[in-house]
Amino acid sequence: MKEKNLVTKIRVYSYSELSEADKNLIDLAKSATQRSYAPYSRFNVGAALLLANGEIITGSNQENVAFPSGICAERTTCFYANSSYPGVRFVKLAIAAYHNGAFTPHPVSPCGACRQVLAEYEKLGGGKLEIMLYGDYEIYVLNEVADLLPLIFDEAL
Ligand SMILES: [Zn+2]
Repeated sequence: MKEKNLVTKIRVYSYSELSEADKNLIDLAKSATQRSYAPYSRFNVGAALLLANGEIITGSNQENVAFPSGICAERTTCFYANSSYPGVRFVKLAIAAYHNGAFTPHPVSPCGACRQVLAEYEKLGGGKLEIMLYGDYEIYVLNEVADLLPLIFDEAL
């Protein structure tokens, strides 16, 4: 028997430490939370995705009374991005969440289904997709989707 250890490296920033471009992406994700439709969870999530062509796509969670019919902010954003600019590489994704009248103090990370979707678009683009998870107290920056989803399902493996 052998043992393998998986290591996830997370860089932790305060907002003021970010570049102006990263602040902008975070700001757009925060703004997108206000366009969320979340009457059931009241957990408003926003995402902003920088594409390799310079476009920034934003999206938010959209809930439905039939719960499985809703969709997370991350997938709203990814699907719209690839529908609008098919095949253009995803470069960086910022995610923020607003709940109980404030942005979450700590970073909120994508659900499992979104992680799998992000992994496929990262692979499709052929480059690493950086992830920024916003919290009022701290911001996590991850280098690639594998940092969120080790041992990603991939039929080609
Ligand atoms: Zn999700």
